Amino acid sequence: MEGFGRALKKKVVVVGGGIAGALLAKSIQFHADVTLIDPKEYFEIPWANLRSKVEPSLAERAVFNHTEYLTNGRIITSSAVNITETDVLTIEGRQIPYDYLVIATGHTYSTPRTRRDRLEQFQEDNIKIKSSGSILIVGGGPTGVELAGEIAMDYPDKKVTLVHNGPRLLEFIGLKASKKALDWLKSRNVEVLLEQSIDLATISEADRVFTTSAGEIVNADSHFVCLAKPLGSSWLRESIIKDYLDRNGRLMVDENLRVGGSNNIFAIGDVTDIPELKQGDVAQRHALVVAKNLKLLIKGGKESKLIKYKPASVKAMVSLGRKDAVAQYPLATIMGHLPGMIKSRDLFIGKTRKQMGLESHPI
Ligand SMILES: Cc1cc2nc3c(=O)[nH]c(=O)nc-3n(C[C@H](O)[C@H](O)[C@H](O)COP(=O)(O)OP(=O)(O)OC[C@H]3O[C@@H](n4cnc5c(N)ncnc54)[C@H](O)[C@@H]3O)c2cc1C
Repeated sequence: MEGFGRALKKKVVVVGGGIAGALLAKSIQFHADVTLIDPKEYFEIPWANLRSKVEPSLAERAVFNHTEYLTNGRIITSSAVNITETDVLTIEGRQIPYDYLVIATGHTYSTPRTRRDRLEQFQEDNIKIKSSGSILIVGGGPTGVELAGEIAMDYPDKKVTLVHNGPRLLEFIGLKASKKALDWLKSRNVEVLLEQSIDLATISEADRVFTTSAGEIVNADSHFVCLAKPLGSSWLRESIIKDYLDRNGRLMVDENLRVGGSNNIFAIGDVTDIPELKQGDVAQRHALVVAKNLKLLIKGGKESKLIKYKPASVKAMVSLGRKDAVAQYPLATIMGHLPGMIKSRDLFIGKTRKQMGLESHPI
C-alpha cells in the first residue's frame, strides 16, 4: 500500500546531502517521493570539523546518518555523474527518475563513506595533533584559520605555523576581519607566513622539514592541508544544463532558484552563482525557498505564485578557538567573546541538529 502511495507521488531527486540538500530533502519528504543521492551515508556540519580534530567526541553530534532525518525518503549512497531530462545517472550506472531535480552539490570532499570511518578519522587527526610538538597548517582561508585557532587554544604549548600564499588571511571577507584574525593568532603565538606557499606535490606525511616558496624553513612534526575544496559541478560539464555553468563552474539560477529557466530543475547552496557570500545559513535559506516552491508546484499551484529568493547581505563569522570569533556584518566587523558566544561555543551544532529534527543534545 505504501509503495502504491509512493507511485502516485511526484518524484523529487536531491543530488548532494550537504547543508542545503539535506534540509531540502528533510523538508519535502512528506510531500513527495524523495530520493537523496550523496556519496556519504551521513550528513556533517562542515564548520564543526576543525573542533572535531581537537575534540573528536564533538563529531558524535556534528556527524549523523542521513537515515536519522530522512525517515520517509530513499537514500542512494553514490555520486551523480550526469543528468538527462528525466533521470539522474549515478557512477554505478543506475538511472534515478525524477519529476523535479534539485542540485545541491556545493563542494566535493574526499571523506569516508561511513559515519564510523569518519569518526575514526577525527580520532586519528587528534592523535596526530597530540603527538606533535610542532604543526604546519597550509592555507589561510576559514579552514586553516579555524584549525590554527582550535589548536592554539586547546594546545597552547604546540608551535603552530600557518603558511598562506595570499597577502592576507580570510581573503573572502574584509580587510578588518583579516587583520583581527591575524592579531588574534599572533597573540596566541601562531606564526603566520603570508605570500608564501608550500609545494604540495613535493611533500609527504613523513616530512618534518618544509621549505616555503620564499625559502623559509618550517620544522613541523606534522602538517594539515587546509585548502578550498573543488566546486561540486564538474559532473555537469557534459550534461543538458552545461550551458548554465558560469566560467567559475557555478550554476546560473533565476529568482525562483531554477536553472536556466527550466520548469523542474533547481539548484541551491554553494554551487549556485547567486552574488552573495557562500555560507551555510544562506544555503539553508535557499533550501527553504525551494521546498516551498516544490510544494506549490506539486499541488498544481501557479508559476506566478513561486517564491522569489532575495540574495543575503554580507555576513560571516570565523571562530578563533572556543571563546572568540571574528564576525563581519554589513555595517561592522566585531571581534572577541560576543561573536564567540554566537558561534564558537557550540558551532551552531545544536541549532543545526534541531533544524534537522533531531535532539540538540542526544543522550
Ligand atoms: C571552515 C569553514 C567554516 C565555515 N563556517 C560557517 C559558518 O559559521 N556559518 C555558515 O553559515 N557557513 C559556514 N561555512 C560555509 C558552509 O560550510 C557552506 O556554505 C555550506 O556547507 C554549503 O552547503 P552546500 O549544501 O551548498 O554544500 P556542501 O556542504 O559542500 O555539500 C555538498 C554535498 O554534495 C555532495 N556531492 C558533491 N558532488 C556530488 C555528486 N556528484 N553527487 C552526489 N553528491 C555530491 C557532497 O558530498 C556534499 O555532501 C564555513 C565553511 C568552512 C569551510
